[in-house]
Amino acid sequence: GVEAQYTMIQGGQLQSAYRTRSKFSHKGTYGHALIVGGSQGKIGAVALASKAALLSGAGLVTACVPECGYIPLQSLLPEVMVQTTPGMEQHVELPEGAAGQTMGIGMGMGTGPAVQKAFLSWLKLQKKPVLLDADALNILSANPEAFPFIPGQSILTPHPGELKRLLGAWKDDFEKLDKALEFALKWKCILLIKGAHTVVLHSGKGEINSTGNPGMATAGSGDVLSGIITGLLASGYPPIQAARLGVYLHGRAGDIMAKETGYEALTASGILSGIGAAFKELS
Ligand code: AMP
Ligand code: MG
Repeated sequence: GVEAQYTMIQGGQLQSAYRTRSKFSHKGTYGHALIVGGSQGKIGAVALASKAALLSGAGLVTACVPECGYIPLQSLLPEVMVQTTPGMEQHVELPEGAAGQTMGIGMGMGTGPAVQKAFLSWLKLQKKPVLLDADALNILSANPEAFPFIPGQSILTPHPGELKRLLGAWKDDFEKLDKALEFALKWKCILLIKGAHTVVLHSGKGEINSTGNPGMATAGSGDVLSGIITGLLASGYPPIQAARLGVYLHGRAGDIMAKETGYEALTASGILSGIGAAFKELS
């Protein structure tokens, strides 16, 4: 296996990474997050991620969904711009992303043949780091010949099932970590192992998150994380900082809200409500 160093992600160390806003900044200072995903019945994943990107400081957020998502998203999120692709129920084309846009892709996107084809040709055109989640990862796992096209420093955020598809089965947690570290090294990406203590793996190192609670094992929780990280990337945090700060803030947001709701009633929307307070602790 790989000899790895493991450290903890804790609040104290992040206070120095956190950037305060300058009085003379404007929305252009904080970048433009493009959240791409959604399909019939799963537009909520894009809504959660887009709202999370906004709450994490992105200056502008555009959600890109198939046509069935246009009306619900415009109604749900007045601050978010909505762009559609030609497909009615699933994407059949994916946007390249204009200069200055930072993309997070895959949440609720589906894995039908048309969206697979669209995703694979889209991936080949990417040069900047992107956040890849959910069905973007499932499509990659089904097409491993596309791994070399993952842009360097991209952030991959699989949950346990998605990770298993990406890496193949492991016999224990040690082998899982080894395989994940090797993957991150080989494809020069930042790979998360999401769970009770999310691990951020990059360049042969592992960083273990200290925040979060079992109430966060709930529908849409990961979509909120993807939005937070994409928002941080858009606003200028380098990818490793965006990943590290993102998992920490997501966990803190969940911890702060669980004090009010308890674990059972914590929802992804509840986690969104805690993002502001989580940021305030860092400032
Ligand atoms: P997903 O399955 O994509 O919705 O992602 C789930 C999110 O919730 C990830 O960010 C996990 O780290 C987090 N999560 C899931 N279960 C737990 C848990 N038991 N404790 C803390 N965080 C969790
Ligand atoms: Mg998910």
